[in-house]
Amino acid sequence: MAITPDTKDWTWVLERPCPECGFDTQGFAVEAVPGMIMANTAAWQAALDGASDARARPEPSKWSPLEYACHVRDVFRLYDQRLELMLSQDDPLFPNWDQDETAVTDRYGEQDPGEVAAELRQAAFAIAGRFEGVTGDQWQRTGARSDGARFTVETFARYFVHDPVHHLYDVTGQRAVR
Ligand SMILES: [Zn+2]
Repeated sequence: MAITPDTKDWTWVLERPCPECGFDTQGFAVEAVPGMIMANTAAWQAALDGASDARARPEPSKWSPLEYACHVRDVFRLYDQRLELMLSQDDPLFPNWDQDETAVTDRYGEQDPGEVAAELRQAAFAIAGRFEGVTGDQWQRTGARSDGARFTVETFARYFVHDPVHHLYDVTGQRAVR
């Protein structure tokens, strides 16, 4: 069975805690984001190592741990590019990304779990490092998604970091403690 494309607009997570994973995007200082990315990444390494079969979908319409990990790796890479754009250009428009199409064309389910774990870690280091370098007024720089959603670097950081946390919950069933 195919995965149902996720066309939901998730920007509401900036307004209220996520009822599914429990994460509150307003519940921390934005400077904590790099550390949160690295903690999340460590949990992914454990989730991929510990999975008896990282390739197995728990049900036909739900991604396997491996597929979620591929998605999170690509989210880290994509958001690092978007962050770079916001820091280097005035009010950029982000190129569109179809996450479900990427999952199919890049054959997420056939990738090697060990390689994906390493790539996820590398991508996490890159974006955590870029957020680490954001200072002062840079947090108020702006950018926009192709669907019209607008962000500052700060709201972008809070919105972004929910994604890997939420997907870790999808895989482990453990709600965010924050
Ligand atoms: Zn969530």
